[in-house]
Amino acid sequence: MSDTPRFEPLDNTVVPRYAGIPTFMRLPYAPDPTVLDIALVGVPFDGAVTNRAGTRHGPREVRNMSSLIRRVHHATGVDPYAHCKVGDAGDTPVVPMNMMKSLELIEAFYKPLAAAGVIPLSCGGDHLMTLPIFRAIARDKPVGMVQFDAHTDTGDAGYGGEKFHHGTPFRRAVEEGLLDPKRTVQIGIRGARSSSDYSDFSHDSGMRVIYIEEFYDLGVDKVVEEARRVIGDGPTYISFDVDGIDPAYTPGTGTPEIGGYTTHEAQRMLRGLRGANLIGADVVEVSPPFDPSGNTALVGATMMYEILCLLAEARAGK
Ligand code: MN
Ligand code: MN
Repeated sequence: MSDTPRFEPLDNTVVPRYAGIPTFMRLPYAPDPTVLDIALVGVPFDGAVTNRAGTRHGPREVRNMSSLIRRVHHATGVDPYAHCKVGDAGDTPVVPMNMMKSLELIEAFYKPLAAAGVIPLSCGGDHLMTLPIFRAIARDKPVGMVQFDAHTDTGDAGYGGEKFHHGTPFRRAVEEGLLDPKRTVQIGIRGARSSSDYSDFSHDSGMRVIYIEEFYDLGVDKVVEEARRVIGDGPTYISFDVDGIDPAYTPGTGTPEIGGYTTHEAQRMLRGLRGANLIGADVVEVSPPFDPSGNTALVGATMMYEILCLLAEARAGK
């Protein structure tokens, strides 16, 4: 008999899915996540929001709703747990009232994972959290990115001159040499601007910006083709802001913008990234206080699962 944990979900024919302690996907808690191939990490941080808060509660609610997720993907047949050791690494430490300190703590949490070659799949949290994750995993070589979002998040120091908020992570990441803008594609951008002299760092730096109008003009398959062209074969991160999806499906988020893609279209796009060189991902901006039905948390959990299947195949292929 081995005491080695199996790092796969509880069997729902043995332990009903509504029972037990809700970890991500009902996986074992891994207090030492460096033993894993893929670590699911909560980042309970919303100190960088510019408007409606609440994403600090995201990881807990996504964990709860993730108990609905089964193990084998119905469309691709992928069983991520057959490929990889996957566990719940718990939440990063944060100091709720100190953003800069929280950024340091988040980065410090991911550094040992990066050193051990563990792929992180994180759940937020507001979108600034991707910056400290990049600082931990992309210092040596800038990553490419597929970003699902209604917003580019490449703003500058608005809001009283503050350089760090959830509308700036990807401008800061390019400036810090962590993100390669030429290998970045942003999908689903929309919403009114704050002023008419708006210029966007995404365009200026060479990111490929697919506005929602172009998304619907091209269709899912062509958008996927374009995203694959942009990221190429290099190491690539998926950052999935749930506000990229239409708020009919994801009302529980801080900055909703109507007219987005559906949950199914998002799933199809993610599946189109099978075989890409994926080195990490996150699902961000689930805000439970605006999510009375729990559906936004369910969408977040399901997108995490879709991405987990991609990461498991990517990891197994290495
Ligand atoms: Mn957004
Ligand atoms: Mn965002």
